[in-house]
Amino acid sequence: MSIGSYRSYLKQEALIADDDFEWALTCRRALHRIPELGFDLPRTRAFVAEALTKLDFNVDERAYGQSGLVASIEGPEPGPTIMLRADMDALPIEEVADREGRSTIPGNSHACGHDGHMAIALTVGRILARQRQSLAGRLVLCFQPSEEPGGGALAMIRDGVLERYNPAQCYGLHLWSELQTGQLAVTEKALFASCDKLSWTIKGSGGHGAIPHLAHDTVGALAQLIQANYHLVAREVDAQEAAVISIGQLAAGSIHNVIPEMISAGGTLRTESPSSRAFILERLKEIAEAIGRQFKVSISLEASGSIPACISAPSAVANVRSAAAGSLSGVCDANVDYSTLAGEDMAEFLLRVPGCYFLVGCGNADRGIIAPHHTSEFDLDEDALAIGASVLASSILNAIRE
Ligand SMILES: [Zn+2]
Ligand SMILES: [Zn+2]
Repeated sequence: MSIGSYRSYLKQEALIADDDFEWALTCRRALHRIPELGFDLPRTRAFVAEALTKLDFNVDERAYGQSGLVASIEGPEPGPTIMLRADMDALPIEEVADREGRSTIPGNSHACGHDGHMAIALTVGRILARQRQSLAGRLVLCFQPSEEPGGGALAMIRDGVLERYNPAQCYGLHLWSELQTGQLAVTEKALFASCDKLSWTIKGSGGHGAIPHLAHDTVGALAQLIQANYHLVAREVDAQEAAVISIGQLAAGSIHNVIPEMISAGGTLRTESPSSRAFILERLKEIAEAIGRQFKVSISLEASGSIPACISAPSAVANVRSAAAGSLSGVCDANVDYSTLAGEDMAEFLLRVPGCYFLVGCGNADRGIIAPHHTSEFDLDEDALAIGASVLASSILNAIRE
């Protein structure tokens, strides 16, 4: 097994050792071969549970959120509980055929890097387990299902994981291929956006395409609605605040010369702040009603599948920054200014528990690792596992000592 060049990214005093890194590689490669989806994660869960048992963690028998897995270790002295969350699910994307160690489950692959997140959490577990005798507090590893379709974090929370463990802080990271290995993005601002799934239904009498004046024009209403919604974001939201609406789904009519009685449209709203989200949702409803009146059709709007923006607590951000400064060598840049309007349901934990979620670069142009997340070519530079594990282990130890 190759140990690679991970040491060049780290200072001598970084917490990870060569055998920790080997463990990270072994875990990541094993998990990479068995990518499972959503809440249906039997093989992944079994692998993680076995690894945690080897590390002498207390593995909770309850399956929080159907298939979530939680395990803990504590030191001899009492102290705060710090949670580390990693997501477990893969995507229904066929991985490129000619890759060594590729997925063995047809049609599925770890095309978002969650195999790496699990490997990092297991490596942090290994590092802290070794230091157990000097711990004053408890580490809880929280392996979450269904991040991609969404709902996994909330399912675990509804099943009582936060009440049961009462963490003082919660940490996590996403490996990010748009950033190069050695780059970290840590911010007090929203790292990921809020997401709302928007569904419009337009209903009217429809009619013959030749005599629209006798019809209620659902298609005309739709055209106006799309324009007005896009205009709302461009002209009514502070240009300094990131927000976007995209409509990506339309179902209307079955023949060219009939104005349909019903149209459905689906879209997504992303924002960085709770106030602009609330404002836009309110205005979208007003716009739908006004256009409905204008065209004499009914327009209903439903927002569902919502997740809040992913915002870290300033004190935890400072902790991660200082852990990065203490762990990373001069070739690294731990202050990359980056955020995305993608969504991430770690936000549900950070809404309830102060903590920090950050991005660790895993792209490496020199090694040809350039494919974006959620594509069949996606891969990660495994050196990033060492960076993520070192910074997280150091952040968590600091948090336990606080
Ligand atoms: Zn993803
Ligand atoms: Zn992801």
